Amino acid sequence: MINREKKEINTVHERDLDNLLQRLGIKDKFDANKFKCKFCKDIITNDNIYSVLPESGGINFICNKPPCVIEMTEYLTEKNRNKRG
Ligand SMILES: [Zn+2]
Repeated sequence: MINREKKEINTVHERDLDNLLQRLGIKDKFDANKFKCKFCKDIITNDNIYSVLPESGGINFICNKPPCVIEMTEYLTEKNRNKRG
């Protein structure tokens, strides 16, 4: 019996983050501290980034403060719920 746990990982790892930022064409802006947390508006850096949410209107960043992480989880849950109707 294979017990394979499917984990959803939202945390961005530094190497992946670099790739992602390059791909989105926003690495320069990120390095210049131009992005803020979607929820608490703190400046997002390599040290406090939790997740990146590319959306139709732009790219949202989430910092790693527990309230923001919780808000993001609720936000995504809500979004999925809306998608299903
Ligand atoms: Zn935050």
